[in-house]
Formats: sequence, structure tokens, C-alpha cells
Amino acid sequence: MAVSGAAVRVATEQLPVRTIRQASLLLGVDLGGGHMSAALVDQAGRIIQRRKAPTAVESGPDGIISSIVELLREVISVSGATKRELAGIGLGIPGLIDSSLGLSIFSPNLFWHNVQVVRPIEREFNLPTFMDNDVRCATLAEAWYGAGRGVSNLICLTIGTGIGSGLMLEGQLVRGATESAGEIGHMTIEKDGPPCNCGNRGCLEALAAGPAIARRAREAVNRGVDTVMVAMVGGQVDRIDASVVAQAARQGDPVAWEIIELTALYLGIGIANYINLVNPELVIIGGGVAQAGELLLAPIRRVVGQRAMKVQAAAVRVVPARLGEDAGVIGAAALVLERLGESGPRAE
Ligand SMILES: [Zn+2]
Repeated sequence: MAVSGAAVRVATEQLPVRTIRQASLLLGVDLGGGHMSAALVDQAGRIIQRRKAPTAVESGPDGIISSIVELLREVISVSGATKRELAGIGLGIPGLIDSSLGLSIFSPNLFWHNVQVVRPIEREFNLPTFMDNDVRCATLAEAWYGAGRGVSNLICLTIGTGIGSGLMLEGQLVRGATESAGEIGHMTIEKDGPPCNCGNRGCLEALAAGPAIARRAREAVNRGVDTVMVAMVGGQVDRIDASVVAQAARQGDPVAWEIIELTALYLGIGIANYINLVNPELVIIGGGVAQAGELLLAPIRRVVGQRAMKVQAAAVRVVPARLGEDAGVIGAAALVLERLGESGPRAE
């Protein structure tokens, strides 16, 4: 779709600030490759109403955008919110974006290239509409309403199929020249490491995300190593995933333990590098793999303590994310406030 940013910007700039302040409710959309959520959220970050639907990737950009519109309509109508109560819409989109143009530049999970996302939704609802990367939305939610409340300098990592992060410094989200700041997943950790989807090799993501954990476990089984993981998946080795490894480690399986320790070592090294660069007070860790909890966090903290510079290491805490899967949709909603110039959540 051809794109002009003008229409996107003008509509929000013309909205008088007074109107925004009267409108107290926020709409958020978290678009993922598997499913999408839309929610009505208040300014204290509480979800008032929500709807979820599978993302029909095969229906293409127009189909997916229509589903988003439908989901938002449902949320609004079920909640009974009036137009005057709605401050705007925030969209959390995976992949590379250009938020000033309202554009998804590239999203591998959705097979999107240069898709105009903001304008059709803004036109449909006639509300100020904003977008950001999904991980940055989750970071905003954790910073304002979750594990990072009251903290001005923080990193929020999501570790799942991939590894992403958002960065907040001096209370402001950092976006960078092409809105790609925080790509810790593609920090090179091993110079001759395994190839990564980004084209590089030895990236943190290729070494420590869910698929790397699963791969290591399957390789161990295929080498004939004795592990409880084989029985846990009924002998179907390709069903071993990161959560099976975590479960086995918790049961004391030495092979699974070793994999968790190695994963934590890679993650700890990447996080220590990040800490040395940006000097945060807090590192928040979320995402599917992080559901392993203290099993993974404790060794990460140990590695960070060993590898980060002393002053930075002493000033930082590594904690689990608090909002779980809701972080994406709450953060997308909070984006409306952030983009309208609020530097933090408003008091309840
Ligand atoms: Zn990479």
C-alpha cells in the first residue's frame, strides 16, 4: 500500500488537549502471529474489557486489519463505552515499524511488507491512533503498571521463540534512528556460533531462545544420553520444547539442568553487556521461556554478578515480569498516553 504520513499525524495534532484529558479510556491491540487481543484499559492499566481472536495470517493485511476493527468494535460495544470516553487506540505490532508513518515495514510472522496499519483504523474509529513494536509496548506496560513501577531506567526482555527487549532511560522509551533500539537478541555472543534468522551467527537468540533450548535437548537425546525428558514426551523427541526442559530440570534431571545453566550463561552474558552499556536499575524478564522462573533467573543473576562491571552490577536488580501475556495489550493502550505526552501513568 502506498503511504503518506500526513493524514496520520494531522488527526491527532488537531485534537484539543482538553478533549484528550476528558476522555479517560484507552484501547489497545496486541497483534501476534498466532492470535490478536484487543482491550479497553483504564489509565491505571486495568483491563476493563477484552476480546481475543486467532490471527488469520493467510487472509493478508486487509483481512487482519478488518479483524482488528471487528475486535475493537466488540470491545467497545460490550463495555458500553461512549466515543467521548475514548482517548485513542494503540497498536502493538511485531517486527520493524515506522510509527510516524503508521507503517509495518517488515513483520516475518505476519508476512507483512510495508503495510499501512494506523490509517485504516484511525479512519474507521475517528480516534487518535498510534503504533509501536510489540516488545516496546510490553516494556511500557511493565514500566508503568508492572514490575517497573517507579523505576526510570530499565530494560524489559521477552524470551520466547525469539529474544527482544525494550529500553527505558530517564523515564522515556528509547526508540532509536529506525525504531529498532534494544535488539539484544541479535547481539553476537559467540563469534562462530550457530546461524541466526537475521543472517548473522552466534546471536543471543540463536543460542538462548526457546528453539535453541529445545534443539540442545534433542541433540542430547539423539546422542543417546539418558534423560527423563524422553519419557516426559512419550518417546516423541520432537515434542521436547523449552518448557519440557525446564520441567525436567526442576525434577533434578542432570541433562536438563546443564541446558538451563548454559542458557542462563548466554543470557547472563548478553544482559551483562546490555547493563554495562545503559546502566539500568532494573532488568525485567518475561516471555514464554521466562516461565521457568527462578530456575532460570537465579543463574542469570549469578552470571550478571560475575560479568557486569561492579558498580553497574551492584545497582541493578533482575526480576520477573509481572503482567504476563497482558503486557502487550496494556502497553499498546498505554501508548496512547505516552504519545500524547504523558510521562507516566496517571493517578487512579
Ligand atoms: Zn541474529
